[in-house]
Amino acid sequence: MSTYDSNNIFAKILRGEIPCNKVYEDDHVLAFHDIDPKAPVHILVIPKGQYIAIDDFGANASAEEIKALYGAVAKITKDKGLKEDGFRVIANTGSNGGQEVPHFHLHILGGKKLGPMLAHAA
Ligand code: 5GP
Repeated sequence: MSTYDSNNIFAKILRGEIPCNKVYEDDHVLAFHDIDPKAPVHILVIPKGQYIAIDDFGANASAEEIKALYGAVAKITKDKGLKEDGFRVIANTGSNGGQEVPHFHLHILGGKKLGPMLAHAA
């Protein structure tokens, strides 16, 4: 996966072709509720730029874009009251990571004890 697919579902959400339940937006970031939540709070945070995965974002995004993404995580987790009890942030990456949508996204999960990091041991 080396070329960005501009027909992926999050690209369509960014273009307004598909609706989303928006949580936060600024010049560089959009955040919205996951359509199939795995926890009481399950929010996706995505850059507006065309980055395939976290490694692409880390290597190629501007300092402003990177700051905006982490700033959005801080703001959202505070606004949703997740800071006190804690939460988890996941970036599934590529085939082994179970990434389904090839536009970089962070999952913010919270609202209950989330259990072990992986469902099954190696
Ligand atoms: P991944 O497996 O790529 O890390 O996660 C993709 C996530 O996107 C999944 O949790 C899935 O439920 C979510 N998702 C897929 N299609 C849509 C959609 O059209 N709208 C929203 N809000 N979430 C979606």
